[in-house]
Amino acid sequence: MKNRVNRIKAILVVLTLIASASLCVSCGGGRGFHDLDGKFEIAKDGDDTIYRLKWDNHTLAVLNTAKADFATVLLALRQGQQAVKFVEKESGEKLPDIVMIETIDAKSTIFKGGAKLHGDKIKLILQDGYFYPTIFAHEFAHALPASKINSYGFFSEGQANYFQSKYTEFYISGITNSFDSVMLDIFYNIFNDDDKYREKMTSLYWDSEYRIFLVQLTIKNKSILPIGTVIEKFSLNYIHTLQSWEVKTAEWWTLHEYVAYSYSFCHYLIEKYGLTTFLSMMKKEPPLPWADDYLDVLMKEFYHKPILTLETEFTNYIVHYDYKNQYLKDPAIRNELEGFYLKITEMIAHPEASTNISKK
Ligand SMILES: [Zn+2]
Repeated sequence: MKNRVNRIKAILVVLTLIASASLCVSCGGGRGFHDLDGKFEIAKDGDDTIYRLKWDNHTLAVLNTAKADFATVLLALRQGQQAVKFVEKESGEKLPDIVMIETIDAKSTIFKGGAKLHGDKIKLILQDGYFYPTIFAHEFAHALPASKINSYGFFSEGQANYFQSKYTEFYISGITNSFDSVMLDIFYNIFNDDDKYREKMTSLYWDSEYRIFLVQLTIKNKSILPIGTVIEKFSLNYIHTLQSWEVKTAEWWTLHEYVAYSYSFCHYLIEKYGLTTFLSMMKKEPPLPWADDYLDVLMKEFYHKPILTLETEFTNYIVHYDYKNQYLKDPAIRNELEGFYLKITEMIAHPEASTNISKK
């Protein structure tokens, strides 16, 4: 029984890690400096040292609050530059001229890794010199031109996760540079406690499709949430959970389900109606105050359909989704993951019962 509980915990951890994008990668031993494309500068601002990389109309600056080693700073610049180039190419949009990355110590946050966009600054959370390279694409996508639609965090997260997933696919499949290969090797090796999941998580399309699978499970196992309700509840739940210092497992789980919906619905809109339409919607300045039926008005304007019709199409898309990831393609593996999902939801619904289980 203990083993089973551990496996449930393992998958929870796996899902938590992916959904919060808190995966990590070693910084390597200073390799990659020659890969910086542009002008590298070190400047002093009082006691702070700022490391800058300038190219074309871009300045990527690292404010090294966490006092990370020099190799990590260079790596952040390199990974940041790659992601800036990717997001701009993919979106056809220009990111802000200056992007500041502030390194912060993992001890000062509940997050184990990853990055957050705070105003015009991306806070890169470091833990023992580790961070996850594709997270930059996620945070830069948050910095794309966007209107108040962004205050519906639902679309903002959906967009950011879409870019992150595309970048992960690009990154995993498009490695030609030896430095990046070293990075990926280390990335793979971090998941050394369970080879089975490590293999799945680092395989192509996993990043983009495990969320679709999670939505498929919520649809199959009762909790079909009307998309309008998810969108409405999303921002509140998301901000509350992210700002909480103590997050209950149930809250994390709900957050994952919401994020899975935001990713999957935006992914659906983008795949079916195109990224250009989606990005134009993100730039639309809505009339204030918000009308109650604003979502419906928005969908009709950009997708020429009421939200309910889109929701039916979306459900259909999810239920009949044809997985590209080799693991999610396999019905036996999907069944196994569904078993974990059901156990987790059961544990969350009946915490007393799960306490008893873990005592056995
Ligand atoms: Zn985000």
